Amino acid sequence: MAVEVQTTCPYCGVGCGVLATIDEAGNVSVKGDPAHPANLGRLCSKGAALADTIGMEGRLLYPEIAGTAHGWDNALDYTAQRFREILDTHGPEAIAFYVSGQLTTEDYYAANKLMKGFIGSANIDTNSRLCMSSAVAAHKRAFGSDTVPCSYTDLERAKLIVLAGSNAAWCHPVLFQRIVRAKKDNPDLMVVVIDPRVTPSCDIADLHLAIRPGTDHVLFNGLLVHLDESDERNALFVANFTEGLDKALAAARETAGSVAKVAEACDLPTEQVEAFYRLFARTERVVSVFSQGMNQWSFGTDKINSLINCHLLTGRIGRPGMGPFSFTGQPNAMGGREVGGLANQLAAHMELDDPEHRRIVQAFWQAPTLPEKPGLKAVELFEAIEAGKVKAVWIMATNPAVSLPDAGRMRRALESCEFVVVSDCVRDTDTTRYAHVRFPAQTWGEREGTVTNSERRISRQRAFLPTPGQARPDWWMVQQIARRLGFEDAFAWRNAADIFREHAALSAAENDGSRDFDLGGLRAITDAEYDALRPVQWPVREGRSNGDGTRLFEDGRFFTPGGRARFVAVGAHAPAETPDAEYPLVLNTGRIRDQWHTMTRTGKSARLSGHIIEPFAELHPDDAAAAAIADGDLVEVVSRRGAIVVRARLHEGQRRGSVFVPMHWNDQFAACAAVDTLTAAATDPVSGQPEFKHTPVRVAPWPASWYGFLISRRRLPMVTTGYWALSRGKGVWRYELAGRELPDDWARCARELLCQHAEQVEWIEYHDKGQHRYRAARIENGRLESVIFIGPDPKLPERDWLLKLFADGQLAERDRMAILTGKPATGQHDVGPIVCACFGVGRNVLVNTIREQHLTTPEAVGEVLRAGTNCGSCVPEIREIIAEVLGDAE
Ligand code: SF4
Repeated sequence: MAVEVQTTCPYCGVGCGVLATIDEAGNVSVKGDPAHPANLGRLCSKGAALADTIGMEGRLLYPEIAGTAHGWDNALDYTAQRFREILDTHGPEAIAFYVSGQLTTEDYYAANKLMKGFIGSANIDTNSRLCMSSAVAAHKRAFGSDTVPCSYTDLERAKLIVLAGSNAAWCHPVLFQRIVRAKKDNPDLMVVVIDPRVTPSCDIADLHLAIRPGTDHVLFNGLLVHLDESDERNALFVANFTEGLDKALAAARETAGSVAKVAEACDLPTEQVEAFYRLFARTERVVSVFSQGMNQWSFGTDKINSLINCHLLTGRIGRPGMGPFSFTGQPNAMGGREVGGLANQLAAHMELDDPEHRRIVQAFWQAPTLPEKPGLKAVELFEAIEAGKVKAVWIMATNPAVSLPDAGRMRRALESCEFVVVSDCVRDTDTTRYAHVRFPAQTWGEREGTVTNSERRISRQRAFLPTPGQARPDWWMVQQIARRLGFEDAFAWRNAADIFREHAALSAAENDGSRDFDLGGLRAITDAEYDALRPVQWPVREGRSNGDGTRLFEDGRFFTPGGRARFVAVGAHAPAETPDAEYPLVLNTGRIRDQWHTMTRTGKSARLSGHIIEPFAELHPDDAAAAAIADGDLVEVVSRRGAIVVRARLHEGQRRGSVFVPMHWNDQFAACAAVDTLTAAATDPVSGQPEFKHTPVRVAPWPASWYGFLISRRRLPMVTTGYWALSRGKGVWRYELAGRELPDDWARCARELLCQHAEQVEWIEYHDKGQHRYRAARIENGRLESVIFIGPDPKLPERDWLLKLFADGQLAERDRMAILTGKPATGQHDVGPIVCACFGVGRNVLVNTIREQHLTTPEAVGEVLRAGTNCGSCVPEIREIIAEVLGDAE
């Protein structure tokens, strides 16, 4: 009988509820959970494709020491012994953990407890440092606590939603769809997007402010001044519940004294700035959403405080439909914050530098020691590894060799580290290659635990699959190491529920409402209640059945020593590096719609890989023309630290002088496209968050003497050409190729690549040496096994008919001929890059259908092709295609 399990999506911080069904044959299907308050049944393209990503391909199944499989006892004994040696010789500061917003709260809790309470250092930091630590720091400065005051329902209650540095349409798609729906239900709801480039989120914008990168704080400082001068100050709220306004206003006046000054600094038309200020001033219910575009700067904390200041001045916080709202990147970034997974936190929203908090935690844990000073933040931690100060690091569920800034340098640091442990579910990542010990971790669908989403809602991740090989939960690995280090009693958990209860009890210890984070009401839940736990928002204070509906700051009371919210004076700022003649463009990094982080999971899905199959650099056509770059050319993007080679995509919506490159590609999926090998390790002095949004670069054509593509049923060993990018097709791997040097003999090269290990090979080929065109196919038992097409320019045959030949069974004679001539036998046309991942609708199909049937709205397209009618993530792109087609027709 089929079994259905309620669980939570492992991707972004929206935290959607998922119903996973496993049938009698072991097949898994997923759909949105209509009962989950975050998504009410919706899923985005990534969530909807979860079932495609749970195969065993690439899994790490056994513990390994130096690349050789070992039993758990051996691997744990060896690891504990190495940690002990380093601890005894060099002290606790020589050991570090680098953890992840992918972990469950229980995993996170265990790692933090071992490091801070028992190893005795605060050197545990998380990859959440890279995505939202500026939000944490800004919250703490303003509210005295890391409190997100809003709930998702505030999006439906708002009259104005400001998306500041947030491409929610692609990065938090289900919340974006909630806003789309809210706007349909309430046409008076206004949406303002603040972003240097036109993103899909602009699809619903009433006003788009394409600001100069890095000037958001000037815009919000100007707004603060405008609100004050327009008599929009909520005098009662400011007088009774805040402090520090005069200094904040003085600083704001200095940096943004007039609308004209703001418009000049932000490179915006004065009328647009005035329109935004008027709208904000006259609308009481304002939700200001902010995300990585605000966070990832060397002054991100100040940027966010400049935004929060405007809400404090107007008293628009703690009431329905209003407040500053951080959309978090990862599924459990919030859970990590709750347990103290950042190096400058303690646990349960208590602070390392507060002696009372240290006393409470040390007594609760019965810990022999607690550090008194913060540990090393992510970038500092890897710099300390580079300097030889940190000699052992345990990396859990993350891929810092790709995601840290100045990643080339961070890789060299890892290479030089005495002892590297990596626990992961994937065997080969850019990071595991540096591991002395690999621990196989359970992954989504196998593990039990909780995660917290952007609205403080705790949801269960539940197991519905058997655990393969010897994979184990990360908390179990921490527990085993703790025991071997002599801390058995403090880590005597039987299961994840034991850890959750302990975490909940610590949050309530000597709390009495003095701290925001409190799960006292869940401290005594039974195993059965934990198994059945429904999504619940914190705080859940003892004596209440659940925390839903608890609105923080409703009473105007904040968690600062005086109970008042603090305005923060925000002055002038400039990015760490500025463009010059050698590096004239500004690189901005971010996500794309259908990939997640470093693609270890989403890269397995053919339907998620069809939207964008290659790493790219998006440029404004004027910048491209100035550099003699055409759409589709290969280009080299070069910064002061490195170079990558990616495909150029020209887009009018890109800001002149800027270039956007996605963060996902790594050495497993491309020859040279890890964008963080370009970014600088400059960080915010308050939050430690790196500046991913502003790196001076130059972009130049990457001239190739040949271009090609290859499709194969088998994943091939690294293709040694100048350029390659790998993506998943249905049952096949797709490689886009190019090179600078022409091989002497294409036939030999192709056979070497495609016929390895094969004794009996049926091989067909066509070679026009004069035209430098080569085509070949390997056929096995009458089925197509692999094809390779090479030409002198990027104009290569379409791919879809070839993919269909792979899907078909036996290869017909006419199809063999078609391969050699490079044209489909049936006259079939390419559907183009997939725009609608849910229904597999390609761009060429959309263009032709829109043109032939004169379709003018995404709704009309949806009726004909179904595209855009499921998750809705592709609707902005469909609208753009309609505009293009209609524009062409005029
Ligand atoms: Fe998963 Fe985020 Fe998509 Fe929801 S919006 S399905 S949490 S990736």
